[in-house]
Amino acid sequence: MLSYEDARLKVIEVTAGLRRIPAREELKLQNSLGRILAQEIASDRDYPPFDRATRDGFALRAADCREAGAKLQVIGEIRAGGKFAKAVRAGECVQIMTGAAVPRGADAVVMIEHTRTGARENEVMIERVAETGMNIVPRGSESPAGDVLLRAATRIGYAEIAIAAQVGRTELEVYRKPRVAILSTGDEVVAVEAQPGPFEIRNSNGASLAAQAELAGAEAVPLGNAPDRIDELRQMIESGLREDALVLSGGVSMGKYDLVEEVLRGLGAEFFFDALAIRPGRPAVFGICRGKPVFGLPGNPVSTMVTFELLAVPAVDVLGGGDARPLPLLKAKLSRGVEQKAVLTHFLPAMLEWASGEATVSELPWQGSGDIATLARGNCFLVVHQSKLKLAAGEWVDVLPRRGLL
Ligand code: AMP
Ligand code: MG
Repeated sequence: MLSYEDARLKVIEVTAGLRRIPAREELKLQNSLGRILAQEIASDRDYPPFDRATRDGFALRAADCREAGAKLQVIGEIRAGGKFAKAVRAGECVQIMTGAAVPRGADAVVMIEHTRTGARENEVMIERVAETGMNIVPRGSESPAGDVLLRAATRIGYAEIAIAAQVGRTELEVYRKPRVAILSTGDEVVAVEAQPGPFEIRNSNGASLAAQAELAGAEAVPLGNAPDRIDELRQMIESGLREDALVLSGGVSMGKYDLVEEVLRGLGAEFFFDALAIRPGRPAVFGICRGKPVFGLPGNPVSTMVTFELLAVPAVDVLGGGDARPLPLLKAKLSRGVEQKAVLTHFLPAMLEWASGEATVSELPWQGSGDIATLARGNCFLVVHQSKLKLAAGEWVDVLPRRGLL
């Protein structure tokens, strides 16, 4: 059976192979967080634009301070944003503030903490040896004018926002979000606003999948629920295939009314896998149907969530014009030993805490893959890899954060 790592690689390869180039849109800078850049951003001038002092102190000539205790004449001061016309000559210095331009003639800045007021008027004693270039970031050393600061396909985080702001961009060209159709299946499933009968349940997967799709950077297109009947299922799947990708929940197990694969096959789907060596989530299906990636995720709510995170998120990344992000695994110390029997990689509801300087993780006792109540009491999944099913208390283990929470 396929490992989840190989399944992710397969999804990325197949989705990238579709070579879809997303449409673009222009957004205000402040609305572009989390989006994928569709253009290059270049440096509009040298950064820093001048030789910048990185400390409050004295700008001087390093040659004057080859030994500690040099006495220099203070000829003025330079504030951040200020101009200083004169040059610094031998035996002279200028008081300078962080962010100010180092004056001509000076080639080092000594921190104010390493100086003392001298005995004579306007004299300062430099208590340290100065080295050329000390506490100065030279003009253009961060990025010269014209340098590409952000390439197209970059995901826009807060540092990217800062770069765009620095070079004066108030608008950015980004890719449109991929539209991900979400269709749950099951005769027992009713709408969230409905009153379920005694043996019916509300459609929690439709809601959680839409949330996961949005967290991943997609636009969720909720299609509601399809009954376990071929014709209606086919019709709703066909409408889902009009979007950039389709995510189904339920109907992929071995039950008599698990019809998703059969219907997809009837629509000409090509499947790349229909089982993974994971729990929960083993019967997950991935294929291409009418040129669109389709995920048939198992219907048990925790299985749906785990498989969306593992499989659908990288597809959203690629369809959105970006690179597939790595799975964001953390390391934490296991608080209590864990042992799993089935030779699969397990994703167990767990709580990650920061206690006495260390990340610790504890498995939460649960009722299996339908138990979203327990899942919602924690903030992550403890990953028990199939290669090592027994983990002792105190071991460093892998943790998959619940996206958006940690
Ligand atoms: P299935 O994968 O269709 O066999 O469903 C597995 C389990 O998940 C069953 O107990 C279903 O009732 C439940 N389930 C299926 N779809 C949903 C849904 N949309 N919301 C909540 N639970 C569901
Ligand atoms: Mg079902």
